[in-house]
This record gives sequence, C-alpha cells and structure tokens, in this order.
Amino acid sequence: MGALRRLRAMSGLMRASCLVLAVCAAWFAVNLVTPVGPPVLLWLPTPAGALLLTAAFRRTSRAAALPAPTRRFWGHLSLSALLVGVAHTTQAVDVLTHPGLGGVYNGPGLLIFDSGAILLIVYALYRLPLSSRSAGERLRVTLDGGTVVAGAAVFIWHFQTRVALGTDDRSQVLGSLILGVLALVVVLAVAKVMLSGYEFIDKSALQWLAFAIFVGATTSLLQPLLSPGHPHLVVTQVSIPVVCCLASWAAERQRLATGRAVAVRRRRPFSLVPYAAVAAVYVLLILETFIGGHTDQKMMVLGAVTLTALVMVRQVAAFVDNGRLVARLDHGATHDALTHLPNRSLFGQRLQQALQPAPGAPGRRPVSVALIDLNDFKEVNDTLGHEVGDLLLVEVARRLAGCAGAHDTVARLGGDEFVVVLPGADPAAASLAADRMAAALRTPAVVNGHELPISASIGIADGRTGDDASLLLRHADIAMYAAKKLTGTAFLHYDSTMSEPGGDHSQLREAIAGGRCFLVYQPIVSLDDGRLVGAEALVRWDHPEHGILPPDTFIPLAERTGLIVPLGRFVFGEACRQFAQWCARYGDAAPAVLNVNVSPRELREAGYADFVAATLATHGVPASRIVLEITESLALDLGPAVATLDRLRALGLRISLDDFGTGSSTLRLLHDCPVDEVKLDRSFTQAPASGRAPVAAAVIQLAQSLRLHAVAEGVETPEQAAQLRSLGYRTAQGYHFARPVTAAQLTEWMTGSPVAAQPSGPSDERTDQRATSA
Ligand code: C2E
Ligand code: CA
Ligand code: CA
Repeated sequence: MGALRRLRAMSGLMRASCLVLAVCAAWFAVNLVTPVGPPVLLWLPTPAGALLLTAAFRRTSRAAALPAPTRRFWGHLSLSALLVGVAHTTQAVDVLTHPGLGGVYNGPGLLIFDSGAILLIVYALYRLPLSSRSAGERLRVTLDGGTVVAGAAVFIWHFQTRVALGTDDRSQVLGSLILGVLALVVVLAVAKVMLSGYEFIDKSALQWLAFAIFVGATTSLLQPLLSPGHPHLVVTQVSIPVVCCLASWAAERQRLATGRAVAVRRRRPFSLVPYAAVAAVYVLLILETFIGGHTDQKMMVLGAVTLTALVMVRQVAAFVDNGRLVARLDHGATHDALTHLPNRSLFGQRLQQALQPAPGAPGRRPVSVALIDLNDFKEVNDTLGHEVGDLLLVEVARRLAGCAGAHDTVARLGGDEFVVVLPGADPAAASLAADRMAAALRTPAVVNGHELPISASIGIADGRTGDDASLLLRHADIAMYAAKKLTGTAFLHYDSTMSEPGGDHSQLREAIAGGRCFLVYQPIVSLDDGRLVGAEALVRWDHPEHGILPPDTFIPLAERTGLIVPLGRFVFGEACRQFAQWCARYGDAAPAVLNVNVSPRELREAGYADFVAATLATHGVPASRIVLEITESLALDLGPAVATLDRLRALGLRISLDDFGTGSSTLRLLHDCPVDEVKLDRSFTQAPASGRAPVAAAVIQLAQSLRLHAVAEGVETPEQAAQLRSLGYRTAQGYHFARPVTAAQLTEWMTGSPVAAQPSGPSDERTDQRATSA
C-alpha cells in the first residue's frame, strides 16, 4: 500500500527507470535459467537506463529553485551519465560482434569512456564550493581531507601497489599506480564534500549517489561467478540499470529538496571522518606488527598508538567544549536573559517562518500576531524598584508561555512588551488565544511580598502566509495602542481605521525639516593608550517643551512612521559634513573613522546606497572612513537589506553589528550578513567578571577567529577597561572615557584641550550640549 503510494508520487522519469530495471531483471533471470531470444535484447536496457538517467540529472540541473552550484553539479553529472551509457554500449557492440570474448573482457571504448565519466564526477565534486568562509576553516577541511587521503594511500600501498611491485610485471605496476591515483582522487573529492558539510548537495541525494557509484564499481567482481555456465550473460547487463535507477533516485531526492532549505544546516562543529582514517591505519599497523614484529617493535607501536589515541580524545573533548560555548552564545543570542523567552531576533525568524508559503499546501493559511504591553509597568519599577519589576516580568512571561500552543512562539521584545506568533490562527482563534492570555493575567502576581495586579493591552494583527512581517507587527502595534485607550486588560484586532500612535508624529517631521535635530559624538578609544581612534554619531532632538530628547524616545516612533528615512538622511549628511571639516582642519588628529547608526528600514529603502555614495562624494569623505552600525529587527527582513549591505561594502564602507550578543545579532545574522565589526553590548561589558565564562570572552574569540574588528561598548569603570583589555579587546567606548559630546567639545578633545579629562560621573549632557553645538 505504502509502496504503491510512493510509486504514484514518483516523477514519470523515475517510474520509467524503475520499469526498465524491472523488465531487465526479469529477462536476465529468465536467461539465467535458460538462454532465450537474441542476445542483443539483454543489452538494450543499458542505453535505455543511461538515457533516462541523463534526462533525470538534466532536469535536476534545471530546477530553478536550486542554487547555481547545485545546478552546475547535476549538469556535470548528466554528461557523466551519458558517457557511462556510451561506454557500455560500445562494450555491448564489442561483445555482440566478437562472441568469443566472454564476460571478463574490458574493451578500449569501455575503459576510455568510463574513465572520462569518473573524472567528470570527480571534477563536479571538486567544483562544489566549500561552505566555510574563514581561512581557518578552509585549512581545517584541507588538513582533514589530507588525513583521509593519507590513510587511504596506506591501504592502497599495502594491499595493491606493494603486491604489484612484487610481481615484476611493469604493465601491472603501471596499471595499479594509475588505479591507485584515481582512487585517491575520488577519495579526496568525496572527503571534501563530506567534510565541508553538504552545503549545496542534499545529504540523502549524495548518499544515494555514493551508493550507486559503489554498486557500479564493485558488482563486476561477481562476473567470475557467472562466466563458466552462462557465456552470454554479463553482470553489467543488469548492474548498469540498477546504478541508473539508484542515481535517478538521487537526482529525484535533490529536486524534491528544493522546498527545504538546502543551504543553512546545523552540523557538528567537527568531523569524525579523519579520526576514522587514523584509527583504520593504526588497526592495520597493529595487526601487521603483532603478526611478525619483534617484542621491542610491538611495544613501540603500542606506545605510539596509545599516545595518538590520547591526543585524539583530548582534541575531541576540546571540540565538544567549543561547541558548547558556541551553543551557549547562540542561545544567549536568541533568548532573553531575564525571562528565558525567545527574544526579538528569534521572534523575527519564527514569524518569518510562519509567513512562508508552505510548498505542498496551496492557498494562504492564516497567521496572527498578538502584541502584549503591560499597563503602568513603569510605576512598579519606579515605586518598588527594578528588582520587583524584573520579577513581575518573569511571572508574566511564565503565565503567557503557559497559554501558548505547541506551535506558537511567545517572545519578549524588550521592556514590558511581549509578542505571540500564532501560526494557523484565524481571527476567531486569535481572539480565543487573547482571551486565554487575559484570563492568565487576571490573578495578581505576588512578588517579594507585594501583591501586584497585572493589566495589559493586547493588539492583534490578522495576516496570511505571504504577508510582510514588519507590516504585521506594525499593525499589531497600532491595535495595541488603540487597546490602551480601553480600561483594564483588553484586546483589539487591527483595522485600517485605527490611527497611528504617537500624536507628535507631525512634530517630529517638523523637527527634522526645521533643523531641531542635531548630532553628538561619543569618542571610541584605543584601550592600549587611550588614543582617540573613532567616534560614533548619535542623534538628539531639541524639543520645544521637553528639552533635549535622547534617541530612544523618538527613534521607535520614527521607525513606525517611516520618518526614520528623512531623519537618517539628515544624520548621515550632517555626520559627513562635520567629519570632512575635522579631517580638513586637523588631519591626523581627527578620528580615523566615524560610526553612524542606520535603521533596517533605511537599508530597505531603494536607492539608499546611491544616496550614501552621493553624500560621500559631496563632502569628499573616503568611504573607508565610515562605519555603518546596524542592529535589531534587521533579522526580520534580511533579504533585500543584505544586497544593500553588499553594495555599501563594495563602495568601501564598513559594516558593524551593534549591540552584539543581545539577540538582534545572532550567530546566524553574523553568518548571513556581510560585516566587518561587532560592538559588544554594554550589558556584557558591565556583567561582573566572576562566575560563568563571560560572554565578552566568547565574543572576542569569535571576532578574532572571523577576523572582525571588535569594540566594547558601555565601559563605565577602569576595572571594566582593564578586564576587556586582558581579554584581548583593543578598542572601547563608554562613559569611563567620555560621554557623547557636542562637535565643538570633540574638537577640543582632538586638539588636546580640557574636555579629554572629563570625569566619568554623570555629566550634564542634556543641558550643555545644545548650547555648545558647533
Ligand atoms: P547605541 O548605538 O548602542 O549607542 C550607544 C548608546 O549608549 C548611546 O545612547 C550612548 O550615549 C550610550 N552609552 C555610551 N556609553 C555608555 C556607558 O558607559 N554607559 C551607559 N549606560 N550608556 C552608554 P543614546 O545616544 O541614547 O542612543 C541610544 C540608541 O539610539 C543608540 O544605541 C542607537 O541604537 C540609537 N540611535 C542613536 N542615534 C541614532 C541615529 O542617528 N540613527 C539611528 N537609526 N539610531 C540612532
Ligand atoms: Ca550604535
Ligand atoms: Ca550599541
């Protein structure tokens, strides 16, 4: 029943290949009993199977959903299949026209075309790009591959070359040398693909293919069993259709793998393959020594083997330990440290996944997002302290997680804001989920002896697969703000009549246009000698009623409303203008680089890279001296932004991952995003040095091995500076060195005036910066 269903799911080509094999096997079996029909019939399935295989490979090489290197690989294989077909057809002609040759005859056509096919397979394997990016990882794969080949060479020498040399027959020696080299080349090619992690070839497809090659290479050894009684039968008459069928299945697996992600795969950080090669050689060595060697030799070999085994075990232990460190970093990067819920970054990935159209399921499935914001949480923090506030958040997280279904994701976005992704939930199901959450929050929380009533506003956005993640989140946000106007815990679904939150939206627009936004600059210094090596531009809003506002109070509004685009353009233009002036006036005393913050929204804007190029040209600033800092929800919508990042890097700008380690910048982001620098988030800089292995240490290790520049942010004390320096950080930023200062104050710092010695205590940044702004 199951087999029948599977057969029905196969493509026409695959079914034809199976049919050829079945007919061929049946006819061969009949002939095994008694010879019937003309001998040519026995050979017909060979070219038929090869042609079908060529077509199957060709079709996989044309599957548009596969990456280019994968398509190229299967394209090469289709040629190879054709060569195999030609090789065995010439063999058939030879055998049919010279009936006396027998089954063990290998004609020149067979040898030439078959060798061509093998070389082509090897070439296809070599052309597959390595998945590793760093030079260190490439070196590792090369060394591991070398180990495997050296192991194989020992075996080939021992069992083949040595024996051939003993016979004094020069053609045998030559033949065995050629065979040996060919075998080593194949081993190296297969080892390379296995060690570099199947990035472009579906793992099961590669395994079926390897099996097919193995069958093709070994079944001819069975020929002697047939030859005496059945002169008209040759094993390849049936083995070639078997190989073709297996290889067609491999191509089919690869083609069906298009729906799954082929590229990103989790894998063990090290491979056991080279260790297996070493172990195999040692087993051979021990066997040989113990059969014939002297006692002294036996002891030496035993000692050497024991030593190597110990070193190998030690190395594997270190690998496992490293793997745990990376896993912890990865967990820390995708989970919130306080509540242990998934953080914004992981939420972004899950939402993206939920919105992805499923390959097999037609139609658009519903997906809902519920945004939950606690009411009056700030009051708890202000009156009872942060510790109580934190415990309340932990309790809320626990209750929200308790009402989530198996496929839902409950995440903390930051502060007192939570979010739930509800895949497959239509508006009615989302309302039910919101009801459950409201009920869960109804009982007051008891924290440190305080009974705290919980009230939350819930905004729901109802979407479908294929919708834009950031738009859905924005709609949930708008609905949440609308729910805030109701009393107590309440939820609302988004509808288009709801107005954007943030009434002073037009005020911000006017502030940008009217020059009420300005920049301050925070020095980035060398930890070795305190030298100024760069500066980060940070925006401020000089508000008519509230005074100087920090960016956290208006950047979120700007991002929600799209005003971040004109604001970001102002910031970049102003930063370039000021930087050009410093470079012209103070030459080498000016900071070497200027860091500017960019929002993901700006990166997604068409023409952003052109704007950057034009602005740099206008002010005559070399691109290499600007570092763009990116953060946060970038992970939400990596696709188009990566292309922009690539272009910016091609222009010569450098890219920095801001707030590194806090989730936005997960390891995956580091892998997918072209970056040059990481900025260790200040929560890690300030974490006490004692206790668990500090994240700061893991991040610098990671940065060093990926050859990224690392900057530690938020250094507030000399102890923190010393600790970071001892971990290997060379550059840092923080109140210990300087607060963000106005352009005029930074000028004084450059020229060696008093600002340089600014105390690290709280300064009056807010009040004095506008007055002295250059
Ligand atoms: P950020 O990029 O992580 O910037 C560093 C923030 O940490 C700055 O806050 C800075 O004043 C503060 N800081 C620096 N040293 C210390 C320290 O030793 N201790 C503590 N506790 N804090 C320190 P700021 O200026 O309020 O900026 C907040 C965030 O607003 C920035 O975080 C950045 O994400 C965003 N932002 C600032 N300017 C811009 C801009 O022009 N465009 C965009 N898109 N975002 C901006
Ligand atoms: Ca920054
Ligand atoms: Ca930062």
